[in-house]
Amino acid sequence: MLTLPQRLLYFSDLVAGYFSKISCPSCGSEDSGLVDRKKLVARLFECGHCKLRFRHPRDEESTLSRFYQEQYSEPDGITTRLPDAAKNLAAGNDLLQLGEGARSAKRLIPCLTAITKRQEIKSLRLLDYGCSWGYMLQEFRALGCNVQGFEISQPRAAFGREQLCLEIVTDPSEVRKDNDIVVCSHVIEHVPDPRQLLNTLRALTLADGYVLLMCPNGSREMQASLPSIYRKMWGKVHPNMISSEFLLATLPDVPLLIATEITDLFGLAENWNGRSVLQADNMSGIELFAVIRGGNE
Ligand SMILES: [Zn+2]
Repeated sequence: MLTLPQRLLYFSDLVAGYFSKISCPSCGSEDSGLVDRKKLVARLFECGHCKLRFRHPRDEESTLSRFYQEQYSEPDGITTRLPDAAKNLAAGNDLLQLGEGARSAKRLIPCLTAITKRQEIKSLRLLDYGCSWGYMLQEFRALGCNVQGFEISQPRAAFGREQLCLEIVTDPSEVRKDNDIVVCSHVIEHVPDPRQLLNTLRALTLADGYVLLMCPNGSREMQASLPSIYRKMWGKVHPNMISSEFLLATLPDVPLLIATEITDLFGLAENWNGRSVLQADNMSGIELFAVIRGGNE
């Protein structure tokens, strides 16, 4: 949850920026339509060009980077609170046991074996982009993957390096570019420019490798089926809502799988040739999953 000073600052930023020019943070188009609103002054628009759903007004980049160096947690239960992890570790608990549910690497394994056509994921070069303190990274390492993590928050990265002996870098220039798999879990909804992040992720993934992207589902089917939950998902912490429409418009001609249930993603992956675009029939789940072909030739 945001602290009271963070809430007050957010509200004053919303008021101050209410009448500022509305343009898509990803493609710059000024053609957009209102799709949701809350707190009187917070509005969610959909870009008419690239279909990104974005909060207006936006945060300045300097505000964003300061925000992510501080500790924060979210009511969705997906963001990991570092102090809990630290306490568990100090109490001698197995951190692997904490990686259940949405944070677990285990749920991704059937998809990874299906898309890579392997029996097991051992020896894959795997990057977790936005790895927090490394909870998924250490699960993948235990399964035999060759892992590296990238994390913008210095305290989280330091925790993973010092307590779990993981290779977690905070400097983008130190991120390796020859990965078989790049996992990016619940990052894209936070960043200033989602299209730029997609390009970065593909550039870090070998052309015969895959990006596995996860984020809140910003698709209109989700909004139609669970409007109050949808409204809670965007705001200060999530300025972007990523939809299948945005991925399809932003990644034309890129082989892609899109689903909102992990079992649907696995179903698509099982018979995928790695060259086509497939989307699940049901797009109303609360989490969006995409498998995107790598772009590092
Ligand atoms: Zn746009």
